[in-house]
Amino acid sequence: MKYSLPKLDYAYNALEPYIDEKTMVIHHTKHHQAYIDKLNAVLANNPEIADEPVEHLLANLDTLQISDADKTTIRNHGGGFLNHNLFWKVMGPQKAVDEQLVADIEKKFGSLSEFKQEFENSAVSLFGSGWVYLVRDNHNNLQIISLPNQDSPYMKGLSPVFGIDVWEHAYYLKYQNRRAEYVANWWHVLKLLP
Ligand code: MN
Repeated sequence: MKYSLPKLDYAYNALEPYIDEKTMVIHHTKHHQAYIDKLNAVLANNPEIADEPVEHLLANLDTLQISDADKTTIRNHGGGFLNHNLFWKVMGPQKAVDEQLVADIEKKFGSLSEFKQEFENSAVSLFGSGWVYLVRDNHNNLQIISLPNQDSPYMKGLSPVFGIDVWEHAYYLKYQNRRAEYVANWWHVLKLLP
């Protein structure tokens, strides 16, 4: 399997003013493309695993019969590939609210605003580069998790619902050091919640 950069279903400037066009162009065509290129290279060197879904490779990294260096490459770049695939999909210029998700969040976290506060706190306090995810475990329970670098929820047997990229490349051109402002504004472009 050779992966390619997924097309966005909105324009690079569609998330303005919350995420600027230049950030979107660089993030999609340079950063995401780089994860894909390195993932493809490691899969080309390991044809026996190349047709396995990347989610499956990440969930079973420890048992793969490949070198430790190649495991690290799959962790970083397979993770980066999937993390960004989902990131583009859950965002958009128009809301497409998932009412069942809203109900599940209210049940688990008390209210949407309490959930958002907890999610924002995780995103602001994550040290360095990484992601904060809302995930479901294998009992369908929701939880918020922080992951370093390009680690994927699939590595922990969890299914991602949505996640925010808090690498500086996701926000620095517009927000510089003001990560909290980026995170607070991100709710405007997350389609799934009001
Ligand atoms: Mn990114």
